Amino acid sequence: MSFEYAGATVEIVDAVTILAAARVNPVELLHRAEFPAPISGAELTVTSADTGSGPVHVFVAEIRAGGDEPSRERIRAMVLGNDPVGLLLAKRIAAGDVVTTRIVDGVGAAVAAYRRLGVDRPAGPAAERERAAVLADAAAGMQATVDYRDGVVRLRAEVARDEVRPEHLEAMVRLMLQAVADLLGPEAGERPLAGRHYLVSRENIPKVATTTRTVTLDDVGGLADLVAQLRQIAVSFRHPEAMARWGARRPQGLLMYGPPGTGKTMLSRALANEIGADFREIRTPEILDKWLGGSERNIKQIFREARRYRVPTLILFDEFDSIISYAGSGGDAASQAINAVAGIFKQEMNDLIEANPNVIVVATTNFPHRVDDSLIRSGRFDVKISVPKPDEVSRAEIFRKMIARLVAVHEEPGFTMFADGIDVAELGRLSHGMTGADIKEALRRVQLAKAMQDARTGGMVVPISQDDLKASIGELLGPR
Ligand code: ADP
Repeated sequence: MSFEYAGATVEIVDAVTILAAARVNPVELLHRAEFPAPISGAELTVTSADTGSGPVHVFVAEIRAGGDEPSRERIRAMVLGNDPVGLLLAKRIAAGDVVTTRIVDGVGAAVAAYRRLGVDRPAGPAAERERAAVLADAAAGMQATVDYRDGVVRLRAEVARDEVRPEHLEAMVRLMLQAVADLLGPEAGERPLAGRHYLVSRENIPKVATTTRTVTLDDVGGLADLVAQLRQIAVSFRHPEAMARWGARRPQGLLMYGPPGTGKTMLSRALANEIGADFREIRTPEILDKWLGGSERNIKQIFREARRYRVPTLILFDEFDSIISYAGSGGDAASQAINAVAGIFKQEMNDLIEANPNVIVVATTNFPHRVDDSLIRSGRFDVKISVPKPDEVSRAEIFRKMIARLVAVHEEPGFTMFADGIDVAELGRLSHGMTGADIKEALRRVQLAKAMQDARTGGMVVPISQDDLKASIGELLGPR
């Protein structure tokens, strides 16, 4: 979609994807866009947050003024929303502008801004200010609060995740440009951004540093059968038409169980990546609520959202057992509450499977026996996967893959991280009983020791050797 504002053309590329991506990671937009002086930069970030009344998309626009700060007057007018902006707003709304702004006056940020600007709170026509707010509320638009701190004008708006639409993103961009125009002031003319082109797109984001690149199934060491199985599942997700043609149903619930640190969370992320799905992790504290009925409400909310996901999404319930423990037949209030949670979960799982084939639910647990059998038996989790501790060969492979990745990310001309001749087979043998997470820790300790030595000596460090790694393994395993 594209539109014009203050003389500029704004093009928003694939707003739906931007909004979907913001559920998982903050999405930064417009951060390389250029504006007339004194605006030295402005960017828009869309993130997701959980509030008391459910999850929301949070839009934050930050506009920085360079050396030549806009006049106090102007900022004051923006932040305070008193007459100039208030009236402007009323005018815009009257003119049918779908974008409206409610300037929340009197909240802490605004008060602080008054003080910082050294101006008095306007003893203004309160009625008029209120009118602006009411007007803004009446228009079905976006509401942003505005504040000013340390040379940055900040606009912030929230929209319930269930309701967020591309129009909201458009509205926020418009609000941001409106603030820019207001800061530039009347002398910049009617079309202060004339001839400019702003591209609002995810492609603007620099590639995430390789250290934090998303994990893939190729990164998994050992567990070959399991990885193959997950690839199959991913295929079934990527080809819904083939599944439909044959009346086949793709799995919608996966239960992964096994000792901690064996890679269950990693596998879930890698699966999401393989499917090309968004990844949403639900942690226990997000659900468990000490108030009666609170946990049930939270679960319902999570599933209500899940039924609306339009893009493929993998929802991970980590440490599932702590959410839905099988509480036995205890008659006490606590176990009854937990049983109620399990009941709701079952119900919601059923509904979800019917309602939204875009979603796949993965639950992980270290204690499968603690998970109420009926949840698993009833076909809600149609794939059950045991993730065991790695054997010797698998451990060697985990070492090999982790070392290869470190080398790929950190080595550069003139810097060698690992000495030649690292024998991963031997490391696999020596690390008996260790999980993938333990192996990662063994490596982390060696990396840290080297880095500290590097810092102390100014770079006089030899690469990590086989002996360094063996020592680290020995230290982790302790005396036997
Ligand atoms: P779990 O969820 O089973 O407790 P995690 O997925 O959190 O385990 O594992 C922690 C870390 O250990 C992972 O991020 C990964 O770096 C590493 N890891 C565990 N198992 C493996 C494996 N089989 N291959 C590669 N890395 C692994």
